Amino acid sequence: MRRKLAAGNWKMNGLAAALDELKAMSEANGGETEVLICPPATLVAQAASVAGKIAIGGQDCHAKTSGAHTGDVSADMLKDAGASYVILGHSERRTDHGETDEDVRAKTRAAWDAGLSAVVCVGESLSQREASNTLDIIAGQLAGSLPDGATGHNLVVAYEPIWAIGTGKVPTTDQIGEVHDFMRAKLEKRFGEGVGRSVRLLYGGSVKPGNADEIFAVSNVDGALVGGASLKAADFVPIIEALGAS
Ligand code: PEP
Repeated sequence: MRRKLAAGNWKMNGLAAALDELKAMSEANGGETEVLICPPATLVAQAASVAGKIAIGGQDCHAKTSGAHTGDVSADMLKDAGASYVILGHSERRTDHGETDEDVRAKTRAAWDAGLSAVVCVGESLSQREASNTLDIIAGQLAGSLPDGATGHNLVVAYEPIWAIGTGKVPTTDQIGEVHDFMRAKLEKRFGEGVGRSVRLLYGGSVKPGNADEIFAVSNVDGALVGGASLKAADFVPIIEALGAS
């Protein structure tokens, strides 16, 4: 039985005052559903100290453990600051920083070496979907971004169609189900049935309190990676509750 996971990605949002929202989420969280918040790197240590049962994660890490990489953060540093997860290969990293599948694979390996679980993001652009290339794109990203050695503990995969991120556009439940079933089959084939079945698959892209119920009812959706609606407890807590009730 896979434990459901509600993950929030704060992106480049949040000063110290935002920790009040995290505290409110923590107070509302009964602990049955796993909850993860990934604040900006500047807040990871403070967030970890007030998060209670909520896990804290980074939004990226460098593939190396240390060295001359100005501005970067290593997986060991995130772990040391109190993180237990790190998001890798988010489409904003792939687009803004030119990250390739190979980069994501190296970062995932670094995260595992540091003892972090990786939330590896995959997803197609609108033009790729319109050209009926979605499943090929997902297959390529999974094959290229995931190192050998995945387990149900060290890996979570998030399907995030790029055209649904921050746009208010959401795929149909059939479209989400098609990709999640496909990803499950690919993971079972690559890592074996036991591991493939134990890796949690999140949907991400404009998840809100109003659409969470129907998304969480889709087969092989084990939770969500939420951007905008994870910034405020008033939005994120109902999503956590919807997941718990699904
Ligand atoms: C995201 O950034 O991972 C995301 C899914 O954003 P939003 O929920 O705002 O679409």
